[in-house]
Amino acid sequence: MRYKSTRSGHNVSPAQAVLQGISPDGGLFVPLQFEEIALKELIHDDYKALARHMFSLFFTDFSEEAIAGVVESAYDDKFDKAGIAPLKLFGDRAVLELFHGPTLAFKDMALSVLPHLMKEAQRLKTQAEDILILTATSGDTGKAALEGFKDVPGTRVIVFYPMDGVSSVQERQMLTQQGDNLKVFALKGNFDDAQTAVKNLFSDPGFQEAVRSRGSTLSSANSINIGRLIPQVVYYFHAYLELVRQGKIDLGEAIDLCVPTGNFGNILAGVYAKKLGLPITRFICASNQNHVLTDFFTSGVYDARRELLRTSSPSMDILVSSNLERYLYALKPDEQLIRQKMQALKTEGVFTWPGGLDMIAGFADEEEVSRTIYQVFAQHHYLIDPHTAVAWQVLDKNKPERMTLIISTASAFKFPEQVLQALGGTPTEDTRENIEQLARVSGTPVPHPIKDLWEREPFQRQVVDAEAMQEAILRWLDE
Ligand SMILES: *Cc1c(COP(=O)(O)O)cnc(C)c1O
Repeated sequence: MRYKSTRSGHNVSPAQAVLQGISPDGGLFVPLQFEEIALKELIHDDYKALARHMFSLFFTDFSEEAIAGVVESAYDDKFDKAGIAPLKLFGDRAVLELFHGPTLAFKDMALSVLPHLMKEAQRLKTQAEDILILTATSGDTGKAALEGFKDVPGTRVIVFYPMDGVSSVQERQMLTQQGDNLKVFALKGNFDDAQTAVKNLFSDPGFQEAVRSRGSTLSSANSINIGRLIPQVVYYFHAYLELVRQGKIDLGEAIDLCVPTGNFGNILAGVYAKKLGLPITRFICASNQNHVLTDFFTSGVYDARRELLRTSSPSMDILVSSNLERYLYALKPDEQLIRQKMQALKTEGVFTWPGGLDMIAGFADEEEVSRTIYQVFAQHHYLIDPHTAVAWQVLDKNKPERMTLIISTASAFKFPEQVLQALGGTPTEDTRENIEQLARVSGTPVPHPIKDLWEREPFQRQVVDAEAMQEAILRWLDE
């Protein structure tokens, strides 16, 4: 398998793609081909066996033993007893819970894998330098990257989160993180500012040289890294096969997919699953009040020239959705076209796509999110977080037509204020108290990773602005 850039003919091996994160021309690496997998052969595979199968297709330069090692290290007892990705059924809705990892968001599904992929890639390329991971986070990637790379030899991680753009629990998760190879900064601005600033550093030769002279090379733990996307394909297969095994669908029967979307990584992994033979009919792309993607899929115009709103689903507060580039490339593998459109987005904040978009899209506003959390709890005694509520609500609007997989991306306890309020409670200034109240009101126990956050004092928040990022990074490397 080779991976090629969406913006040129440049192509690399799997190990190189994982190490580099992004192509030097600014494009994203995509697999050169997709081979259909015979579903029947996978029917008895558990999650880890599926992961091994998928990784052997996409990381072809890794040995079988190496892949088995990666999978064992990734999906160990960091995941709770409920299972790696349990399914909950509500009639024709199947909710795939992807928040049973150490940081209680779906980012764990891939970020528990990525460090091990990188270590193996480093060994294969006999790369002597350390890996320096720069990560922009809208709230969940940051903590999952810190947790995944904690104490991994030969790696260092710096996370930039938008200063006022994450939930109280998300911030506490990042600021209580232990580990000598890890660093967290609060960035003045919103997630788009953080993501753009980090992307700019990746294409700054002077900065790269400064990092190299300190014995490191840059890489990314954001979903622009193919090592994030491939592990996400696994759970779509897992969920489908689980539905078959439970007798809810027949093998080969089509399902629909409804995904709460921000940077477009999660839903793109679903698109890749379909290319690999998973029968998916409708893709429903669910946005919050920052509905730039809804507008794009309904009008063909991607227009990021608008104010980014802060919502109760902060991990989807995004205007420039990175992985859309890979989806567009899959529709029309024309490097020049992609280059033009992405350039227009960068310089003018807008581009028009010439047609052929094949997703259904919708959004939920704040009032709808709150009402959905309440209604789902009242009807099913089932607690969902605001991101999952966005998907649930957008599916309501689009009327389920067949068995539909809703992707549940985070634990409600990461957003105690918003969820408590939706359930009729009264949040206070005290996050911990809100968590306990939420547990009481919902009759749901507080997950351990949340309880543990109060075992230590958070570090002082360190604020930087975009212009000071380079200097802050280099200073930390020199410490
Ligand atoms: C990251 C995230 C999303 C959005 O996923 P994308 O892959 O960026 O589209 C949705 N919900 C939660 C809780 C997240 O952390």
